[in-house]
Amino acid sequence: EVYEMVKPRYKLFTAGPVACFPEVLAIMSVQMFSHRSAEAKAVHVDTLERLKKFLEADSGEIILFPSSGTGFMESAVRNAVPRGGKVLVTIIGAFGKRFADVVEANGRKAVIFEKEPGQAVKPEELDEALRKNPDVHAVTITYNETSTGVLNPLPELAKVVHEHDKLLFVDAVSAMGGADIKFDEWGIDLVFASSQKAFGVPPGLAVAAVSERVFEIAEKMPERGWYFDLPLYRKFNEKKKGTPSTPPLPQIFGLNVVLRIIEKMGGKEAWLDMYRKRSEIIREGVKEMGLGILAEPGYESPTITAVVVPEGMKGIDVYNAMRERGFELAKGYGSVAEKTFRIGNMGYMTFDDIREMLDNLREVIEKLKA
Ligand code: PLP
Repeated sequence: EVYEMVKPRYKLFTAGPVACFPEVLAIMSVQMFSHRSAEAKAVHVDTLERLKKFLEADSGEIILFPSSGTGFMESAVRNAVPRGGKVLVTIIGAFGKRFADVVEANGRKAVIFEKEPGQAVKPEELDEALRKNPDVHAVTITYNETSTGVLNPLPELAKVVHEHDKLLFVDAVSAMGGADIKFDEWGIDLVFASSQKAFGVPPGLAVAAVSERVFEIAEKMPERGWYFDLPLYRKFNEKKKGTPSTPPLPQIFGLNVVLRIIEKMGGKEAWLDMYRKRSEIIREGVKEMGLGILAEPGYESPTITAVVVPEGMKGIDVYNAMRERGFELAKGYGSVAEKTFRIGNMGYMTFDDIREMLDNLREVIEKLKA
């Protein structure tokens, strides 16, 4: 009966959770064992090493959290910003807003820098915002804003954050695995993501790379909590080769398998190139249909496209019509929900799946226009 409720019905072009690689689903169905066993420790250590390489984070500590990505927003704030301290939160869509909510919910103060939906943050604007707010402890950047399909120019923005000597927290929930991250070179302090996005693993695991600077601050931070205590996680990485509480082992196995698939494909460059190509085909396809792209040119996301529907059409009508044809896209989200729908290209899919989806979308749009 439950299987009837959850059985796969659609080809997924969602914002996450996304379709998983068959090899991931296969490893996740193995029988469970203790998370303190030698076998679990071996997988933990191997996954940390592979992530370190993928994120180019030799100077950083890789942390695996038994939570979704949002857990790391909470953790970054509690560990590295004192109560009452200010954080400059850059907002280019719904998930930037969430970071501001998390800052405030934890008794810290969010100083907001906000752009119109579809726009990215530009280095000179960030510089100006930091000049006006020299007393912030940290800056948050949504690398890839899932609600608008915009990729922020992270390397350039990171440079500005450094010039002002602030901590840099990066929400890479829908970017990690789909857009490049060079943790050491770009000088990131904390970058996090969720398993259910560009890695194509089921939800339940969050991953991050954390700088030494954050640990130095965190170790002296009073009341930083227990569940998301970063120094405690580092201690467990070193001493127990695991996490303080029970982790979602199947997701860790799944992530490990994806990191191996990436290696087999030829490494990070080849994998990221696949993401770039997928998103390019989608953008070209929807433009040919006369639809708009919400992202300003030059800042389009490699993992998700927010498509603007013509006057008189609603994004939700496109979403519903595509579901009837067996394709699950993503609804518009946040302040642009009504006039957009989104096409994710994360996780397991082929180029033929994308072309088939676009052929169906073309027919749907023609019908809705008529
Ligand atoms: N940040 C971004 C950019 C996201 O896309 C999402 C989820 O879609 C989140 C944060 C929240 O992640 P999670 O649901 O894994 O906590």
